[in-house]
Amino acid sequence: MRGIISRFAPAPTGFLHLGHVVNAVHVWGETRARQGRVLLRIEDHDRQRSRRHFEDAILEDLAWLGFEADEPPVRQSERDDIYLQALDVLRRQGLVYACDCSRSDVARADAGRPDVARLALHEMDELRYPGTCAGRGLAEGPAVGLRVRLVPSVERFVDLRLGPQEQRPSAQCGDLLARDRDGNWTYQFAATVDDHVQGVTLVIRGVDLLASTGRQIQLARLLGRAEPPEFLHHPLILKSAANGGVGGPRQKLSKSDGDTGIRELRARGWTPAQVIERAMSFVE
Ligand SMILES: [Zn+2]
Repeated sequence: MRGIISRFAPAPTGFLHLGHVVNAVHVWGETRARQGRVLLRIEDHDRQRSRRHFEDAILEDLAWLGFEADEPPVRQSERDDIYLQALDVLRRQGLVYACDCSRSDVARADAGRPDVARLALHEMDELRYPGTCAGRGLAEGPAVGLRVRLVPSVERFVDLRLGPQEQRPSAQCGDLLARDRDGNWTYQFAATVDDHVQGVTLVIRGVDLLASTGRQIQLARLLGRAEPPEFLHHPLILKSAANGGVGGPRQKLSKSDGDTGIRELRARGWTPAQVIERAMSFVE
């Protein structure tokens, strides 16, 4: 049997915080329990928001916490060739088209969608692209994005924590944006290509990403992946709890919450064990 390969994949758009620590505990815990290997991937696909000093700080904090990857980190910003090759695979199947819609164009079009077409609550957090440019034959070029045609399908998978899941990516999100109008590869596209090319067999991430699993499974299949990875979606940290409040809105922790940054806790003299314990005490 092939060994388990998972990954920890932070975006260097801020410092490491308690939410990352919860993810790391799940990634390393689950993977090591199954004698697997952990890869480290710097998801700096958003060139406008990614900063090298955040990456350096994240890697340093991670090492301090004792989370060691089995290979040196890879950076998405250095994998353009790999994404272009993946795009070619899709292009040969006639699945790629240019799209110059802005996010507000998509929002406007989506707002006109009848309520009956709306899906379950957790799937409504995202906009559905209605295929505005699918038949336009728009030329590719600067300030033009690229989309991948999704075919109607029901994607079934068994989440290792949540059990059997069923998603309809083309109804849920419409054709998938692979590269945006700024020339950035999207999270969905880059992560799916990387998981495929790097041979990742186990994806462990927060439950906020559950709704995107079906489209990643379909995209992976279109890229030629025979077997999708296994997925485990873990609970998120509660922001109200992490901030010491009670009864506040149940929000997930974000990178802008400086008071839960690992840097700050280190500066206050916390030990790695204390930081990990605190992070896990805030999980839903
Ligand atoms: Zn469009």
